[in-house]
Amino acid sequence: MEVPSNIAEILDRLESAGYEAWIVGGCVRDSLMGIAPHDFDVTTSALPEETERVFAGMRVIETGIKHGTVTVVSGGEPVEITTYRVDGEYRDSRRPDSVTFTRSLREDVARRDFTMNGIAYSPKRGMFDEFGGAGDIHNGIIRCIGDPEKRFHEDALRILRGLRFSAALGFWIEDKTAAAMLGCRELLNNISAERIFAELSKLLTGRRSGENILRVMSCFREIFAVMIPELRRIFDFRQYSKWHYLDVYQHTALAVQSAAQLTAGKENALPLTLAMLFHDIGKPRCFTRDENGEGHFYCHAAYSAEMADRILRRLKCSNALRERVCSIVKYHDTQLKDDDRTVRRLLAKHGERLACDIVMAHIADDLAKKEEARRRIPEWYAVIGRIHRLAPECCFTMKELAVDGNALREIVPPSPLMGRVMKHLLKKVVDGDIPNEREILLQEAAKYVAKRGII
Ligand code: ATP
Ligand code: MG
Repeated sequence: MEVPSNIAEILDRLESAGYEAWIVGGCVRDSLMGIAPHDFDVTTSALPEETERVFAGMRVIETGIKHGTVTVVSGGEPVEITTYRVDGEYRDSRRPDSVTFTRSLREDVARRDFTMNGIAYSPKRGMFDEFGGAGDIHNGIIRCIGDPEKRFHEDALRILRGLRFSAALGFWIEDKTAAAMLGCRELLNNISAERIFAELSKLLTGRRSGENILRVMSCFREIFAVMIPELRRIFDFRQYSKWHYLDVYQHTALAVQSAAQLTAGKENALPLTLAMLFHDIGKPRCFTRDENGEGHFYCHAAYSAEMADRILRRLKCSNALRERVCSIVKYHDTQLKDDDRTVRRLLAKHGERLACDIVMAHIADDLAKKEEARRRIPEWYAVIGRIHRLAPECCFTMKELAVDGNALREIVPPSPLMGRVMKHLLKKVVDGDIPNEREILLQEAAKYVAKRGII
């Protein structure tokens, strides 16, 4: 296993001072899977003040002294060093009432959540794997360390962490662990919205989530309904639609999975997967059937966007992300066509980034429908191409028009009419009816005013 030199140096220094020191947790798990770890956590038998003494002369930050964590800046990078510890009693399914330091590595790894996260490694001492984590990683299995029910009662966030790892790594959940996750799901109500939202975000955007979300959302839908009770109404909701072969929840799950695939590793991954999670959540309230028995959901996009707004506020999502997600939801079924006029209007209304988000949502949505709908996808890609082609060369805001209020003053007296003239000119330019050139815009303004008989 490769350990970066700044981490190896930290381990060395602690060992030379007479303490044990290991890397542990996510970094060991990822290394064993051939994934480059994004950070390295160090665990040691040294007490926090002993660690501070060992690193005297280096930049040391007392991150969480009470929980035994000291951060040392090494090679320009902050590295967390945590003293072996045992968690005290958990009374709120959230965090231990107290922690006790220990000199036993076994006790430290026993407090960790899953076997794959309970492996320690040291270049000097080799691998410490008391709970069979390496075997479980090899077999792609998520298994609690110890009794799953007890572990979920201690900290219910572990339920969601398990789902997140299952989606992000493509692992299956061992059956006793899975059963306990479902059985203990109500305990998630004790967990703060911030912690829930952070894990949910990782679940939606993990490296292999695009292959696994459908399975996770299907097997564990009751857990999703604890976090987002509004989902319950779309469970098994039949659509009676010629476009659909799935109920609203299953369609949603497949659309989320499609969005995760389409956006893997990209900036738009979280906004789009969240948008797909909510895009049809308002459907039950809008359901009608016509005389032929065909189902309709008029205005469901606007209603879903309102619900998404409420849910994301409750989950303490940032304002910028919430607004972006809600806009995608609101316009996810807007009429699209691969022609200049439609795309220019889309750009004028939404700007380039949101316009692309909306088209991507169409693709993810159609991927989760019947063949007839999937046939439209090549056209949606063509729309994306056209967006990128037209965005740099077109004018979409009044500020970008080749005339302003001053230039128009001769033709239009300062009055509320001025705003209407500007709006009219912008519409003409956006629609491609006239070019954005001063003389032509002035002529068009005069025509507009004359036609209305104002001057
Ligand atoms: P990643 O950093 O890739 O998201 P991770 O497993 O490293 O995954 P962290 O939150 O960084 O997750 O936690 C580091 C380690 O701490 C875990 O590998 C696990 O051993 C332990 N751990 C984290 N959260 C919990 C928890 N809620 N209950 C028990 N152990 C935990
Ligand atoms: Mg980590």
